[in-house]
Amino acid sequence: MSRGPRLVLLGKQGAGKGTQAARLAERYGIEHVSTGDLFRAAAAAGTPAGREAEQYMNTGDLVPDDLTLRIVEERFAENGLVDQGFVLDGFPRTLPQAEPESDWTCDVCGGRVVQRDDDTEDAVMRRLELYEEETVPIIDFYRKVGKLVVVDGTGDGDDVFARLVEQVDQRLKQLQT
Ligand code: AMP
Repeated sequence: MSRGPRLVLLGKQGAGKGTQAARLAERYGIEHVSTGDLFRAAAAAGTPAGREAEQYMNTGDLVPDDLTLRIVEERFAENGLVDQGFVLDGFPRTLPQAEPESDWTCDVCGGRVVQRDDDTEDAVMRRLELYEEETVPIIDFYRKVGKLVVVDGTGDGDDVFARLVEQVDQRLKQLQT
């Protein structure tokens, strides 16, 4: 395969997606795209999109799909990203976000729940609730299009990473043949 892999990591808040996504990006020489990071950067820069997103982020709610798709499209308009491969972290989180991107992706990571220290309990509860309601249906969607790989996200981070790499390599081999 001439291009790098196109990966999506799904998992609950605290499952370790961010850390694993960064490691996968390094391993395969691809870009790590985190929608949470894109929103936080836009909020810190004080752009209109960033200010709007911030209101939802503070309560643990999801940023509306149209705004989310816009920020992702902007990032993907940058040169070469789609061709060179990427690992998406925190996107898609709803079915309307997943469907337009379904051609791109092949992986999923399941995980454990660990609470972030800097979060209020209400925001954490809301994020977990929304994960069940909005994000879990995506798992079925990827399963149906034959792009789902379930990886055990429990235990040591190095072990989880080894499992992810094994699955991604296997999948890449299948795509080559
Ligand atoms: P994260 O860093 O992935 O935990 O994201 C932090 C916050 O950004 C989330 O709680 C949402 O408010 C928002 N966010 C990030 N990604 C998305 C997305 N794909 N759809 C909607 N909201 C998102």
